[in-house]
Amino acid sequence: MNYVDLHVHSTASDGSLTPREVVAQARAQGLRAIALTDHDTIDGLGEALAAGAELELEVIPGIEISAAHEPGSMHILGYFINHGSARLDEQLRVLKQARADRNPQIVANLQKLGMAITMAEVEAVSGGGQVGRPHIAQVLVQKGYVADFQTAFEKYIGNHGPAYVNKFRFAPRDALAMITEAGGLASLAHPFTLEYSSTGHLRSILIQLRDWGLAGLEVYYPEHAPERQAAYKKLALEMGLLMTGGSDFHGSIKPEITMGRVGPNLYLPYELVEKMKARLVR
Ligand SMILES: [Zn+2]
Ligand SMILES: [Zn+2]
Repeated sequence: MNYVDLHVHSTASDGSLTPREVVAQARAQGLRAIALTDHDTIDGLGEALAAGAELELEVIPGIEISAAHEPGSMHILGYFINHGSARLDEQLRVLKQARADRNPQIVANLQKLGMAITMAEVEAVSGGGQVGRPHIAQVLVQKGYVADFQTAFEKYIGNHGPAYVNKFRFAPRDALAMITEAGGLASLAHPFTLEYSSTGHLRSILIQLRDWGLAGLEVYYPEHAPERQAAYKKLALEMGLLMTGGSDFHGSIKPEITMGRVGPNLYLPYELVEKMKARLVR
């Protein structure tokens, strides 16, 4: 097998498997390489890289940074980052604090909406890593307030939900600089979540981001229907952006997602990684 998954989460952010378990599962599934891209943290990379060396699976040190964007959300993936960078660590600590401050506010809003939910319950399901909205969703499901994870976001805690609380995010330019200054390549994750109005609108956003250091576009993603995927592929080619892709694996938190699988019968070749490496040395 010669397949890769360039978008994977662990317990260091909101996945359900530890970094080591993620690597072991990737190995068991016969993948050749994965990128660990936890939200706003590099805390899982040391463990993942050590496990990769031991189990003979290539692990690309990555991250997924949330940047400020209206009306949707902008996630920027970083690949081949120097996870020993003290400056990066310092910048990420700002985000960690912002996230910690926000969770109790969301829980308080849910209480106001009549739901019996506490921060202690949310922390209990987080597995000791970073606590975030997916954990809040998990408690809402467990307590029967919503049928599933997605409904929790749609009805209550998603960006347009009544319990949503905005949090500090870096401006796109700063998020891109964080990645490039740490020696990495930046790629725009799941572009559709930008909620752009047309392909032309997306193109203008990409032109701006590329000026600020964007190197790639996440073309392959489970929620990209064939037409959307084709449009992103065309844009990437037209704009000289690398094509990246991944499953956005989160373990049991998103059970419908299988690591390495980005669509019905769609798996990504190692060639994507080779192209990134070629761009790095340029
Ligand atoms: Zn994302
Ligand atoms: Zn993700």
